[in-house]
Amino acid sequence: MLDCTTCAACCLGDLGHVGCTLEDVARLPRTARVLTAPTFRAMAMRPSDHGLRCDALVGMPMGKALCSVYAARPEVCRTVQPQDDACRRSRARLEAMS
Ligand code: SF4
Ligand code: SF4
Repeated sequence: MLDCTTCAACCLGDLGHVGCTLEDVARLPRTARVLTAPTFRAMAMRPSDHGLRCDALVGMPMGKALCSVYAARPEVCRTVQPQDDACRRSRARLEAMS
């Protein structure tokens, strides 16, 4: 079984943001809502050595990586499961960049 805590490939991407519903934002701890600024409708992403990465990600992809809002992560993040198609695509993309 793949270990998400040493992966985080699905927390990277070219989209530039991680889409959030109003419910997703409301579920975030108040202190973490800054991660959705300026629109408050998506988690912000920033450039890294692996392309854009979610601002809520702590640590290095393919190293020790943790979602700092894991319990309250957006619904779109909950839909990706280890070894499903989205997971495989994310991991293949990250491996191609390494
Ligand atoms: S779901 Fe897949 S791509 Fe996402 S962190 Fe887990 S193992 Fe990595
Ligand atoms: S909110 Fe957490 S699980 Fe979702 S992309 Fe960002 S770091 Fe990954």
